[in-house]
Amino acid sequence: MSNDVYTLADLRQWHAQPPAWAEGEKPILAVFGDPVAHSLSPQMMNPALSAIGVAGRYVRLHILEDEFAEAVRLLPKLGFVGTNVTIPHKFNALRNVDEVDSLAKRLGAVNTVVVQEDEHLLGFNSDGPGFLRSLSEAFHVDAKDLRILVLGAGGGAGRAVAIQCALAKCERLVLVNRTATKAQVVADEIRPLFQDDHLAGPMERLEAVAWEDDVLLHQLDHTDLIINATSAGMKLTDPDLLSSGLIQPHHLIYDMVYKPARTKFIASAEAAGARATNGLSMLLHQGVISFETWFNRPAPVEVMREALQKAATEAG
Ligand code: NAP
Repeated sequence: MSNDVYTLADLRQWHAQPPAWAEGEKPILAVFGDPVAHSLSPQMMNPALSAIGVAGRYVRLHILEDEFAEAVRLLPKLGFVGTNVTIPHKFNALRNVDEVDSLAKRLGAVNTVVVQEDEHLLGFNSDGPGFLRSLSEAFHVDAKDLRILVLGAGGGAGRAVAIQCALAKCERLVLVNRTATKAQVVADEIRPLFQDDHLAGPMERLEAVAWEDDVLLHQLDHTDLIINATSAGMKLTDPDLLSSGLIQPHHLIYDMVYKPARTKFIASAEAAGARATNGLSMLLHQGVISFETWFNRPAPVEVMREALQKAATEAG
């Protein structure tokens, strides 16, 4: 067990497996995923552990969907402090911890698990708050002041970001998804969050609309921030997300994809004169919030930022 990707079989024989962990090398934190080998979290979290003087390592756990319940229940016995949870386990995690905090319940997903001393597992979500921190860092804006359009609002990340923007009482929210019915489901779910005494404007404050150019053209005239929460755009050969002419210079573009650093969507946005950022700082800030949740103390943000940027550059 000398590498950094472990499986359920490894967890089952954690103590039996020689050699014993060297001083300071014992895993105490992890990320559960399938796939997980690409995760940049260990490169960000291990320098953070060193910076605050905590002995132990953050490792990757390659866990299949039907292994999650058993694997997460092994953590307390093996001396883990907590774990992150990524695709495809975020919904599963909600059902397999003992207590879920109110935001994670609302977002319908857990990405951070805390192991308590009494072996209880607590579930949290740092993706939504991480997105808000990243947004204000990138553009010096607050979601509450923005008219926001989410592409991919029916996917896991899009849904979480849409709900987080609604909780932040954003000015307007437009949900778009390739499979339109999924965006409608999310809109119906978050409609109650918009029932306040906000002054009604000329456009509906919350809408799910079709992914069609004429519909989007009209919506984008009344949009400040476009979020790409689809999984499209990770390859430079992917087709353009939005037809030419739809992005306008006043738009802020937030692409949740961060690999490559300059995605096709970002390149199109910049060509249209808009400001754009990728999702790397969301990864940073969700990690910072997870770290603070595990250790109940401020995280060494700049150490984590530098380590993450280095890892992302090396990963290409
Ligand atoms: P997911 O649950 O599988 O959802 C995928 C979404 O992408 C769905 O809305 C899907 O639409 C849409 N989609 C896929 N291919 C498309 C295409 N060719 N054209 C238009 N829409 C398409 O995935 P997820 O967990 O939400 O992740 C989505 C993206 O966010 C990924 O790129 C992920 O890496 C990124 N992400 C980044 C961070 C970060 O920290 N920066 C955090 C979480 C996620 P249908 O519903 O029609 O299939």
